[in-house]
Amino acid sequence: MEAKLGSNPSFVWCSLLSARDVIKEGSIWSIGDGCTWDRSKVNAWFLPSSRAEVLRVRLGSLDCHGKLVWNENKPRTFSVKSAYQVALRIHRSSSAEHSRARDDKLVWNRLWGLPIPPKVRNFVWRACSDILPTRANLVRQKVHMDPKCAICGEHDEAVIHILWQCPLARNVWALVRGRLQKCDSSALDFLNLARTLVVKLSREELETWAMVACSI
Ligand SMILES: [Zn+2]
Repeated sequence: MEAKLGSNPSFVWCSLLSARDVIKEGSIWSIGDGCTWDRSKVNAWFLPSSRAEVLRVRLGSLDCHGKLVWNENKPRTFSVKSAYQVALRIHRSSSAEHSRARDDKLVWNRLWGLPIPPKVRNFVWRACSDILPTRANLVRQKVHMDPKCAICGEHDEAVIHILWQCPLARNVWALVRGRLQKCDSSALDFLNLARTLVVKLSREELETWAMVACSI
């Protein structure tokens, strides 16, 4: 199950390895059920409160290894139909990853190309990377504090909230002329917002976006 593709793989080997990915994704390891617990040992080793939990775990015998079980349908029986669904799932997630990587490259290329001060570029980069010291991020770093926005108190103070969605931020953006004023405020996070804006806005508008975001 761990064999590598190699530098000059044959068509058959490529096909086998693709099928292996489907099997890996759609299966789980199951412990054999040939053995039972030695109750006297369980009683000796575990607290009464844990014994029932321990006994519920099915054991495999020493010479019986775990086996791979198809986990994509109720009867746990491999079928071409369920394997096709798994293959489709793998394909979709890898396509989504590729398209995300392509979008991110575009974001960085456009941001890096803007005629803005390095301080602003650095700020936007930190906002997109979600590493600004907002309350929500500080709480994630185990700082003991209220994650709620200090201005509106309605939502957690995430980067996208404080720079784009908080009523105070919306008031600021409402004052900016052009398409920025009408941009949808429902982005998932600041990087997702940047992905949308680099496609939608002109170079000048993006420049304004970066400068205003940095000044909020
Ligand atoms: Zn707020």
